[in-house]
Amino acid sequence: MSRRVVTKARNGRLVWTCSTCCQPVANGRGYVCVDSNQAGLTHARHETVDFEYRKRQEAEGSLVPYPLDEVWDDPVPWAAYHHGCDPRPDSGDYWFAVERCRTLAEFLHWSAHLLEKRWFAHTDWRDLMGWLGVDR
Ligand SMILES: [Zn+2]
Repeated sequence: MSRRVVTKARNGRLVWTCSTCCQPVANGRGYVCVDSNQAGLTHARHETVDFEYRKRQEAEGSLVPYPLDEVWDDPVPWAAYHHGCDPRPDSGDYWFAVERCRTLAEFLHWSAHLLEKRWFAHTDWRDLMGWLGVDR
């Protein structure tokens, strides 16, 4: 599991922690991001495996085992960075400013929005959801 990038403070506000310097990221000072290109490549590869599997299944019948080992990938980790801490500032990663996600309601809103992205399931956002779900 990736390092914990978001926690819920006692006042209920979400605290994003910089993945480089491990300090909280204040509003206006940074963003939450993910390598969506990498996640998109994973998605595309899985689609190809699915397509090839269905072709084999049609040709050879329903007993063809699904090639699980070909679709076993570590999820692409979400990170938070201060503007000056991102090791890949020109990467073209998907991002949003930390101040746009400071409450559980905003987190839920982002989750709904992100679910529309084809690459989303190949990221570790579900870990973030799990962490926030058990925080008191
Ligand atoms: Zn930092």
